[in-house]
Amino acid sequence: MSKEFNNNPHRRLNILTGEWILVSPHRNKRPWQGKTEKQAETDRPQYDPACYLCPTNKRMGGENNPDYKKPYSFVNDFSALLNDVKEETYENGLLYAESESGLCKVVCFSPDHSVTLPLMSISAISDVISLWQKEYKELGNMEGINHVQIFENKGDVMGCSNPHPHGQIWAQNNIPLEVAKKIDRLKDYWEKNQKSILEDYVQQELKLDERIILENEHFVALVPYWAVWPYETMILPKRKIAHIGLLTEKEKVSYAEILKGMTIKYDNIFKTSFPYSAGIHQAPTDGEEHPEWHFHMSFYPPLLRSATVKKFMVGYEMFANPQRDITAEQAAETLASLPSIHYSKV
Ligand SMILES: [Zn+2]
Repeated sequence: MSKEFNNNPHRRLNILTGEWILVSPHRNKRPWQGKTEKQAETDRPQYDPACYLCPTNKRMGGENNPDYKKPYSFVNDFSALLNDVKEETYENGLLYAESESGLCKVVCFSPDHSVTLPLMSISAISDVISLWQKEYKELGNMEGINHVQIFENKGDVMGCSNPHPHGQIWAQNNIPLEVAKKIDRLKDYWEKNQKSILEDYVQQELKLDERIILENEHFVALVPYWAVWPYETMILPKRKIAHIGLLTEKEKVSYAEILKGMTIKYDNIFKTSFPYSAGIHQAPTDGEEHPEWHFHMSFYPPLLRSATVKKFMVGYEMFANPQRDITAEQAAETLASLPSIHYSKV
């Protein structure tokens, strides 16, 4: 690779999806004259009588939440998927559709309205992971549920209207698009090498040490080489673990540790509660063996240059493919150099 390669426009391959991203590092110093977002409010009460996720409060569907003390989940009162849909297809010339069934749940991370993952203790985050494990297994074992998507939408710039710490789980019959892309790539590598592509990838990243943010005994947090979002990161186990249900107790604590560490770094970038969409990709629950699967959690945060400047996927990105200005290495350097103590605790 020539010296200028990383300073000149180039495209990088996402080995998990087969998609390309255009990197334009020379545009980095362009002046910004666009929109600024209002900074999110940070001071919140531990209990909000108007919040439909706080313990004992009435939800929009009319039910009351229990006085929960640990992470708590329930079926979304306004689910995007329903589990009693009749299986059928519609075909009319070039118009084609098929029914989709499933179930949507909400996972409250804590009874405390005021916290977020980086402000929770490692044992409280472990409890969240335990609930994710339980949901993955229970939903995955349900008849007709072939995929379980766990995710969190954090911050009002991500369209998350309720600041109570919570995530969602959408479980469904079909394998969704992003996962289907990854299955092909993971399978292909597994069949050729009898190894997990992510196990090899994480070893290469550890050796290069250019995009690593955090590392502990069992997990690594890094900016993937092909990152699209300015501060996109991925948390992945060093060994091939197909889904979170297979984590040992020790690994679960390691996962909680790195999740706390990574989200603290995020909040410390702009000294704000950092918005993102985060999701866990893991083996489908279709009853097949998935030796190729290596679970990982990705964070897609929209903030770019400050707490108020957001990246938009518009123009070229809508019509061609994603593009970024700061390189993955620059983003990783920034994230790695940030303090490991939350800015509000200093
Ligand atoms: Zn609340």
